[in-house]
Amino acid sequence: MPELPEVETIARGLAKRVTGDVVESVWLGQKKEPLKSPASEIAATLEQSRISAVRRMGKHIVFDLEQDHVARTRPERQSKGPSPAKSRKPNRKRKSTQTSSTIQTESGEGVCPSRTRVQWIVHLGMTGRLQVCEPRDEVAKHTHAILKLSSGRELRFVDPRRFGRLSVAQAGDFDATGIEPLEVDLDRFLTLFRGRKTPIKSALLNQKLLRGVGNIYADESLFRAGLRPRRRASTITRDQLAKLLIAVKEVLSEAIALGGSSISDYVNSDGEEGFFQLQHRVYGRESEPCLVCKTPIKRVVIAGRSSHYCPKCQK
Ligand SMILES: [Zn+2]
Repeated sequence: MPELPEVETIARGLAKRVTGDVVESVWLGQKKEPLKSPASEIAATLEQSRISAVRRMGKHIVFDLEQDHVARTRPERQSKGPSPAKSRKPNRKRKSTQTSSTIQTESGEGVCPSRTRVQWIVHLGMTGRLQVCEPRDEVAKHTHAILKLSSGRELRFVDPRRFGRLSVAQAGDFDATGIEPLEVDLDRFLTLFRGRKTPIKSALLNQKLLRGVGNIYADESLFRAGLRPRRRASTITRDQLAKLLIAVKEVLSEAIALGGSSISDYVNSDGEEGFFQLQHRVYGRESEPCLVCKTPIKRVVIAGRSSHYCPKCQK
């Protein structure tokens, strides 16, 4: 499952490749699970929209889109190429949104050249991938969306297990819950754990507190901070939490830096390969010697998730 650093890396890679491109047409598959917004709404939102930015919010990839209404007068391109299933007809009718005062004529011509800001939000789930492809590239099994871009390339969403989600935000106001772990300051970080009797590990994984810190990175951060995953959050001192915050930021930043070097492999045709993984110090190393003190690493289950720690280095 892609975690925050992977999603950040993927978002950065996509930003380099598709920013400025215009979505000419959209094909959506017949499977319902990946579509969190109605298919017609996703198609209508994406088509003829210019991708102004791609960024990560929590574990979501957010495409900021501008709908230039004048651009709608261009003749529609014939959709062709390999389609794994019958196309869904995109809904051409568009409801006006909060940010748009544009009135459209029957032909789709914009009366007012104003731009509407909307967003396409992708959550990769367990096995989701976004691929930038040439139209001649074979359409992978489990392709659920194909965006034809004005550059001639295609952006495809592939997801064998279908835990990924595609949605749109009409007012461009998508907001993931929680705080960005890479942006949070110490004061705010301290307030997240004040009075919490849950294990610190659970608190770190709680997406309502911090967005996007996954299991691996929580274990690695706790090791670096010298804190046991079962420690009650409320019993941890200010100094220890300060250390934990530094550890969280370090672990995520290091993983992003590593991911950045392999980005082309990931976004390209074969999404499976390519991530250089952070050298795990505790995660997945049950019974192996601690890299610091050689004590065997322990594994416990907290809230259904495996947690790894060194019983000597972590208190
Ligand atoms: Zn140790």
